[in-house]
Amino acid sequence: MDGTMMRTPLSVNHLIERAALLFPKVEIVAQMPDRTTRRYGYGELWERSKALAQGLLRAGLKPGDRVATLMWNHHAHIEAYYGVPMAGGVYHTLNLRLAPADITYIAKHAGDRFLIVDDVLLPLYEKLAAQAAFERVYVASLTESPVPAGLHRYEELIEDADPRWVPGEFDEDAAVGLCYTSGTTGRPKGVAYSHRALVLHSFAAAMADTLGLRQADVVLPIVPMFHVNAWGLPFTCALVGCSQVFTGPLLDPASLLDLLQKERVTIAAGVPTIALGMLRALEAEPGRWKLRDGLQMIVGGSAVPESLMRSMDRKGIRIIHAWGMTETSPLGTVAKLKEHLRRLDDEATYRIRLKQGLPVPFVEVRAAGESGTVPWDGSTQGELQVRGPWVAGSYFQSPDGEHWTPDGWFRTGDVVTIDPEGYVKITDRTKDLIKSGGEWISSVELENALMGHDAVAEAAVIAVPHAKWQERPLAVIVLKKGMNTSAGDLRSYLAGRFPKWWLPDGYEFRDSIPKTTTGKFLKSKLREEYASWQPGPKG
Ligand code: AMP
Repeated sequence: MDGTMMRTPLSVNHLIERAALLFPKVEIVAQMPDRTTRRYGYGELWERSKALAQGLLRAGLKPGDRVATLMWNHHAHIEAYYGVPMAGGVYHTLNLRLAPADITYIAKHAGDRFLIVDDVLLPLYEKLAAQAAFERVYVASLTESPVPAGLHRYEELIEDADPRWVPGEFDEDAAVGLCYTSGTTGRPKGVAYSHRALVLHSFAAAMADTLGLRQADVVLPIVPMFHVNAWGLPFTCALVGCSQVFTGPLLDPASLLDLLQKERVTIAAGVPTIALGMLRALEAEPGRWKLRDGLQMIVGGSAVPESLMRSMDRKGIRIIHAWGMTETSPLGTVAKLKEHLRRLDDEATYRIRLKQGLPVPFVEVRAAGESGTVPWDGSTQGELQVRGPWVAGSYFQSPDGEHWTPDGWFRTGDVVTIDPEGYVKITDRTKDLIKSGGEWISSVELENALMGHDAVAEAAVIAVPHAKWQERPLAVIVLKKGMNTSAGDLRSYLAGRFPKWWLPDGYEFRDSIPKTTTGKFLKSKLREEYASWQPGPKG
């Protein structure tokens, strides 16, 4: 028998409409390049998003048309998140850190029709203008600079709106936004988020034992809005009706800390490299910033080094470690402690908080080894596979089947262990694993240990070819400013913590480690550079 409930569609539109109705004055704050802030409430965000939708329809937007954004985090970007789908379109966040040729490829692959671009990003736009050929380009003004001939003002879309206009019905399976994977190997692929996926993701993300967002919070997504919808926070925050603060283009540690202080932020979110930068600034100038008591920072995107979590705790900033992917909207696991585990001592609770965490409701996880699913024993490794209502079932216009198992689970490419409590721990990416004499060595664990050394700012461990062992680990090290150490010192530092055969064959010191546009170590590049590495006299 069927249930007797109504079937009203789940739509992100409801999130903003309800926030506008119930929390019209709760603020959306956007920092501009001159450090002034632009602020308005959910009421105005709703009105401006409706106006944008009407403007786009006037410009000829048809259902399903893609509207690209080349923008930093600020008010106009969140207006696009809500306004474009309200008009039946799909916003497509372009990653402004990619090379112009890659952005062009992605915009063309997505079939983007219109573009909204920040005035401060026009020099980048000019590099893709000829190739990408958007039908119409709208410029959002963050400064007073004039709009170049041939382009349109973003505010043109907002003007002349009819306040009585209401959007049409929403299909919960229709696409809302499109985001391409960062693609460290191969071509980037598009993931199209539906209304249903984003709404359910918001519910799961907001839960007390997930990210724990409440109406009273002030949330600062440092993670870019072009990277998996700023981890979905602009939707989750609207669901709970809390304030949202955006950085604009100012992402240096001091500017971030100034903003955290000024806006009395309760929850920030960003990748470990951003958190590390903030930590160094706090250590360099103790007492300069007075941050909100109980400040939390959601950190994911790559593994949180132990030293970072411990040092942040000492500064009163609690890191919540989470794991996700572009393909999982992104939230998959969050490392919060179960009640009975809170009784464990400090060391034991760190071991748990440093894992990637428990799967959130509706995300099913399993780890697959060579001969089937591996047990949840905390030591057997396997590839993490997931499924759930906000996990991609395919890529946009790309017949790529290899990322899904025959029974329909998404293959993440992350190698994990799952412990008896259900906590997932990433030990590597499948392609970053080091196989020495037939045994796996976890580069992530070596990196985390090395980054706990006083003199080490960054450490990446990669596999280098070896005649006898097939592969051996090589550590690539960036030292902290003014600090020094030697290969011998690092080796003895690691020796107490790992089996002898795990210890890297060499330590290469350099000024920086190449990174992806989202701040992860670009190990494929390092592997190329050190492909013919041989131990030198220094070893
Ligand atoms: P992206 O799609 O660019 O967000 O990248 C997703 C990948 O980032 C995952 O497959 C992981 O390899 C990595 N990742 C995300 N969160 C974490 C984390 N907390 N710890 C380790 N790796 C992570």
